[in-house]
Amino acid sequence: MARNDVDVVVIGAGMAGTTAARDLTDAGLRAVVVESQDRIGGRISTDHEFAGVPVEQGAEFIHTDKAETLPLAAAAGLELLFCEPAAGYVMELGGIRSPELYADPSLARLGNLLDDVAAFEGPDRSAAEFLEVRGVTGAAWAMADQMLSIHPLGDLHEVGMQGLRDDRVVELERGIDHRVVAGYDELPKWLARGLDVRLGWRVAEVRWAAGGVTVVRDDGEEITANAAVCTLPIGVLKSNAVRFTPELPATKWRALNGLEMGAAMKILFRFDEPFWPEDLTMLAVDGPVRLYWTSLYGRPGAPAVLCAYVTGFRARALSVLSEEAAARVCLADLDRVFPEGKPSARVQAYQRIDWLKNPDTRGAYSFVRLGGAGSRAALAAADTGALFWAGDGTATDTIAAVVHAAHVTGKRAASEAVAHLS
Ligand SMILES: Cc1cc2nc3c(=O)[nH]c(=O)nc-3n(C[C@H](O)[C@H](O)[C@H](O)COP(=O)(O)OP(=O)(O)OC[C@H]3O[C@@H](n4cnc5c(N)ncnc54)[C@H](O)[C@@H]3O)c2cc1C
Repeated sequence: MARNDVDVVVIGAGMAGTTAARDLTDAGLRAVVVESQDRIGGRISTDHEFAGVPVEQGAEFIHTDKAETLPLAAAAGLELLFCEPAAGYVMELGGIRSPELYADPSLARLGNLLDDVAAFEGPDRSAAEFLEVRGVTGAAWAMADQMLSIHPLGDLHEVGMQGLRDDRVVELERGIDHRVVAGYDELPKWLARGLDVRLGWRVAEVRWAAGGVTVVRDDGEEITANAAVCTLPIGVLKSNAVRFTPELPATKWRALNGLEMGAAMKILFRFDEPFWPEDLTMLAVDGPVRLYWTSLYGRPGAPAVLCAYVTGFRARALSVLSEEAAARVCLADLDRVFPEGKPSARVQAYQRIDWLKNPDTRGAYSFVRLGGAGSRAALAAADTGALFWAGDGTATDTIAAVVHAAHVTGKRAASEAVAHLS
């Protein structure tokens, strides 16, 4: 019989936490979810006001046709919108736009870049060194930079090739995505239906042992359970914002040192009307922003919303500016790319979502640093008594650092906790 009222306390109500709590509850255990924010979803955050239709501030796509969240969305009865970015993908580098850009002779050096990343062998090296050895320069370098560092979020010299291979994030470059029409946040909310989720419950300390775990709120309130699942983002774990007592073992700190929380921000713009080609899905450029996309593509009659997706050092640079100054940078960039459209004269509203400054994530999502291969598995390992680990930073079986990765880790940690308690 359980010693505590609570069998398992789950820290965080993002995709990993809601998945874990759902599975624990379905297994007949009493689970409580504690969440610092006043909403469910974590890095899934949908704005239902900005455009009158749902627009994503964080995760946007269900990536690939193999995502474990596709059947989940079907079970939740959620309508999906298929989007194949490659269909309306435009790239402009050095003022030359695709398809003319694809005739650039430097591109021959790229070869089968994605396949070669997937097959990478040998001692770890940075993605920058990997490209240098291949003799990649010019437009090919800018294109490879897009392909290798838009998803890992680290800059080329920070991203390790072994981790890039293991994370399989370059598979996302092959396209096939879906958006959730009613908003991505419907998915974790559906998982959390009927669960005991305590919002505004900020964990300050986790006391862990083999026999149980106590989580301590920032106001001193405590919940003691027979086990816990921690889904705190890598950025939060690395910041020491939550104290672990006893201190986490060296294996966990080594794992955290091998990972980094990448910087990403979205600046959403609503315009009076579109100034971009009708079939544009994604626009890859080489200015202060590397990627723009049409957030409401494929929704007839929807407002003209464009998302500036800013990552890596560019995101860190825009993060220190005011929201207005950062928006001005993007608008000047758009004026450069669409001189006839005069985007800056058409803007009606904008909103910056800076995940680097969010105290509940301290970055957008994780990547494996040079020399950090194996860190996700070490963080995921069930080697801290009754405290189990989930969250996208612990993903090893799927493409890492995406929503379906978080979902799979929640399932894994829940089954570990069930096994521990039985
Ligand atoms: C801008 C952006 C775009 C993205 N785009 C995509 C995409 O298109 N497709 C995709 O699949 N993935 C995307 N991702 C990645 C995806 O959002 C994440 O991989 C996934 O949502 C992580 O889920 P999680 O449960 O592991 O973490 P989280 O969602 O971060 O959940 C952790 C929870 O812990 C809570 N928490 C933090 N500190 C405390 C504390 N002290 N006490 C209690 N609770 C705390 C947080 O508030 C949060 O709710 C994107 C992420 C960002 C930021």
